[in-house]
Amino acid sequence: MQKISIFWFRRDLRLEDNTGLYYALQQEENILPIFIFDTNILDKLSNRKDARVEFILDQLKSLSKELEEKGSSLLIKIGKPIEVYEELLGQYKIQSVYTNRDYEPYAKERDQAVEKLLKEKGADFYTFKDQMIFEPGEVLNGSGEFYKVFTPYSRVWKEKFQNQKIELLSYFHWKNLFQTSTFEVPSLDDLGFESTEIKIPSKSWEEDLISKYNQTRDFPAQKGTSRLGIHLRFGTISIKKLALETAPLNDTFLNELIWREFYMTILAFCPEVVDKAFKPAYDRIPWRNNEEDFKAWCEGKTGYPIVDAGMRELNATGYMHNRVRMIVASFLTKHLLIDWRWGETYFAEKLLDFELASNNGGWQWAAGTGTDAQPYFRVFNPESQTEKFDKELKYIKKWVPELGTKDYPKPIVDHKFARQRAIDTYKQALD
Ligand code: FAD
Repeated sequence: MQKISIFWFRRDLRLEDNTGLYYALQQEENILPIFIFDTNILDKLSNRKDARVEFILDQLKSLSKELEEKGSSLLIKIGKPIEVYEELLGQYKIQSVYTNRDYEPYAKERDQAVEKLLKEKGADFYTFKDQMIFEPGEVLNGSGEFYKVFTPYSRVWKEKFQNQKIELLSYFHWKNLFQTSTFEVPSLDDLGFESTEIKIPSKSWEEDLISKYNQTRDFPAQKGTSRLGIHLRFGTISIKKLALETAPLNDTFLNELIWREFYMTILAFCPEVVDKAFKPAYDRIPWRNNEEDFKAWCEGKTGYPIVDAGMRELNATGYMHNRVRMIVASFLTKHLLIDWRWGETYFAEKLLDFELASNNGGWQWAAGTGTDAQPYFRVFNPESQTEKFDKELKYIKKWVPELGTKDYPKPIVDHKFARQRAIDTYKQALD
């Protein structure tokens, strides 16, 4: 059996500044790069047309090519990680496995199981920080506890960012890659998926856009945000590189990158937020959960133009502007009194940039159940939000062309009535 070590790609689909890959190549020889299409995850996806699967596959094709140019190849497997490792242990003499840390509850459990198996077979398992600049446990308050509120967290985060010399990794020891003939890349069909029409935003960022971010980011009709979400999700760009290059340009943009790490930290320390309110009392809210209302919301047929525009944008493109995410989430949880978990699940299915921590954080914020949450008596008024952020109805008209004709539905609920109902319901549950 050939003696190898493995670098396992997961949410870090790039060679540039890839921490685990860097150390693997520095410390071992014969590094075989692998990726596993985890069927525990794939089998749960409800739609066989999923642009994210297509995106991953495209990235793997590029990675494969880059590795081939270095005399190696990317081994792509489809299956349950533990079974894939059992198979690999039968084929190779594995010295160690290197990978970058993932902080989601499922990922942690998976990695523990893989580590246990490897240890039993005499192989080491090394993990590295790559997905975040400061991982859970690195930004703590004076008593050594994690922050439950964003502002002090971000202050300490920024201090550390300024004081620590954060550098990009270069000079990778490519000669230590396992030299092998080319492994085949599976097709979308092999994975049981079909192609989609959805376009993936570019992974480059423009200085000009970032510099003006604080002025433009709230207007959905403008291209005023980076659209880098999917690239951060799958690590096709380095968060370190992005933060180092953009921090001098715009502090508001840096704040958003910090929100991402804040929510990842909350999820890591409070994994129960996956299905429970961060503030437990809020689980007493008697949600109406009306299925017809939910369907109207999903389809963008609520009769509230800004809400409908957002949902239609999401359904058509896999993207929704942040301002509109806040509006549709508030509308679902407060106007319709539908459980935030329903909305969260729908977003998880549709968003290209779906990320458990930020999605959960965003939904709990909107529903008033989370950290830094909107107080329950603040109910977004879709009309005044439109007045502020889409005054000329440019965004709305793009997605709701039938606005103003008899084809556009009447509001499914009256704003004033719904607002009062939400406040009364929350108040009663929380008293
Ligand atoms: P930009 O505005 O250009 O920001 C750059 C990056 O910063 C984003 O790509 C993202 O990684 C991070 N970021 C920005 N805003 C936030 C935020 N409020 N919280 C955490 N990270 C942020 N973001 C996700 O990445 N995945 C999700 O599944 C997700 N679900 C959300 C659900 C709801 C209900 C709400 C209100 C927000 C959600 N967000 C989510 C946060 C935010 O809406 C998106 O990150 C942003 O709209 C993505 O567009 P962009 O890449 O152009 O972001």
